Amino acid sequence: MREVEFEEDNSIVSTKTYEKNPEKYKGLIRCFECKKKSWFRKSFLAGATETIACFAAHHEEGCERATSIIETDDQEEEKNDTDKDVLSNDIVIDLDKTKHGSIEKSLPADKHEGEDHTWDPSPKSKVKNFDSSGYPNNRSLKQILRYLIRNPDYGLSKSFQIVANSGRPILSGLIGENLIHIPNVPDDKLQKLQLIWGEINNYTENDDGSVWLNYGSRKEPSLLLDNSLKQGVMNAYSLESLERFQGSRFLVVGRAAKSPKGKIIVRSHMPKYMVFVNNKEQ
Ligand SMILES: [Zn+2]
Repeated sequence: MREVEFEEDNSIVSTKTYEKNPEKYKGLIRCFECKKKSWFRKSFLAGATETIACFAAHHEEGCERATSIIETDDQEEEKNDTDKDVLSNDIVIDLDKTKHGSIEKSLPADKHEGEDHTWDPSPKSKVKNFDSSGYPNNRSLKQILRYLIRNPDYGLSKSFQIVANSGRPILSGLIGENLIHIPNVPDDKLQKLQLIWGEINNYTENDDGSVWLNYGSRKEPSLLLDNSLKQGVMNAYSLESLERFQGSRFLVVGRAAKSPKGKIIVRSHMPKYMVFVNNKEQ
């Protein structure tokens, strides 16, 4: 998208307007039509190709402004999932199966004119009605996240168990009773260890090396990584810049808390308790 809407006053924000005052707009821009949160993407050089600055969003299905479509970085892995797995009733989440993909790097450039990106929609997997085997399935956190992205109601009635290296259960129960979908955090789920997932639309780095991975504005929920956790996650993803987290989706085993000002802050403790599915430009 070349233009988005400023949430405060519904005004139009172009890429040039945004670049003049990113702090004003960050986290407060959305698609005109479907109203989904947007993020700004600088123009960049990928190989010999210079891509124009633009806005991106995870548009609602059918949104007419969805010219730039996000493809997740692990279509390959998805092919290995069978429909039977998706529908089985019990899931064991083995944190040691957590795999972090690498993220393509791109160089910043300064380009505002030119053609829009033309990206094709990501293929959506079809779920068929196979009978469930009823056997527990070892899944990674990342697989669960991919299912949730495809279907936010995934697994609500499934039971799950997250186990530590030692085999000690860390969290178990029904997914539907232990899942928080940012930005909606019910009060009765605050402070409890939960599966927490959502979108990151922008980020803010702090002087002490910590980083806020934000759903939206400062008042809306954020995932907070201290410096060492940030470094751990960046290493796990071979990441040189946090820029690529814009527009990614996360699933963490962690806790949501409310600050005195009412902001929801999500924390987790180890990179293997956190997975991200990132975008890939084509
Ligand atoms: Zn839209």
